[in-house]
Amino acid sequence: MSDFIPITTKDTFNFSCNDDLACFNQCCRDLNQFLTPYDILRIKNNFHMPSDIFLGKYTSEHSGPETGLPVISLKADADDALKCPFVTAAGCSIYKDRPSSCRMYPLARGLSRSRETGISTEHYMILKEDHCKGFRNGQTWTVEQWIADQGIAVYNRMNDMLLEIISMKNRLMPGPFDIKSKLTFHTACYNLDVFRKHIFENGIMDHLNLNPKTLESVKTDDTLLLELGLKWIKYNLFGDREISWNLKTG
Ligand code: SF4
Ligand code: SF4
Repeated sequence: MSDFIPITTKDTFNFSCNDDLACFNQCCRDLNQFLTPYDILRIKNNFHMPSDIFLGKYTSEHSGPETGLPVISLKADADDALKCPFVTAAGCSIYKDRPSSCRMYPLARGLSRSRETGISTEHYMILKEDHCKGFRNGQTWTVEQWIADQGIAVYNRMNDMLLEIISMKNRLMPGPFDIKSKLTFHTACYNLDVFRKHIFENGIMDHLNLNPKTLESVKTDDTLLLELGLKWIKYNLFGDREISWNLKTG
């Protein structure tokens, strides 16, 4: 059984996860793991692997039922369909680059946006599941302390940029994407090393006259490249002009 309990960022909860617990690693063996663009960036760099090779080896793809957007999940283990491919007897083998949902657990985060003001508000919940023993005798945390300890802020920032695109898509382009739009979204979000080639070898942004210093940074900085990719989607698919302003002054 599981319970979702709303919690504010100042509220406290008790939780500690460690290898002394009988449930250690069990949550990584009961998995249905979606990956955000920033999750993919971190894990493929952990493996020093180009994005297209990582996607082919470790992930599967389907289209979101309502948005038609490509959704990436970790590929099922050949022997155990629900086991994370990165779990080992000693714990998570990619711990420093584990996905946002693994960092956030036992919390879950939602975002709502006011139609009138456009301002987004975060909401948190604590997920209490019977199998998880981490709540017994756990350390006391506020939500804010947990976010800082788990290094979640950068994930939230990048994931919120993606949510903004999904919201734009739903407002401006309801229904399934055509093939070209889907490929643009997929490449700029998930297949970053190919996206970089499109910029520097195929010149897809040459007409935008972007700031040369920013473009130089994008050659080696994947986080900046993903930010550019998310802005490119907004510009290319929805006509948003922020890309020119932001990168000319960057
Ligand atoms: S305490 Fe919870 S999060 Fe930690 S290993 Fe056990 S089930 Fe997983
Ligand atoms: S990525 Fe790491 S923490 Fe997340 S489910 Fe896999 S093994 Fe567990």
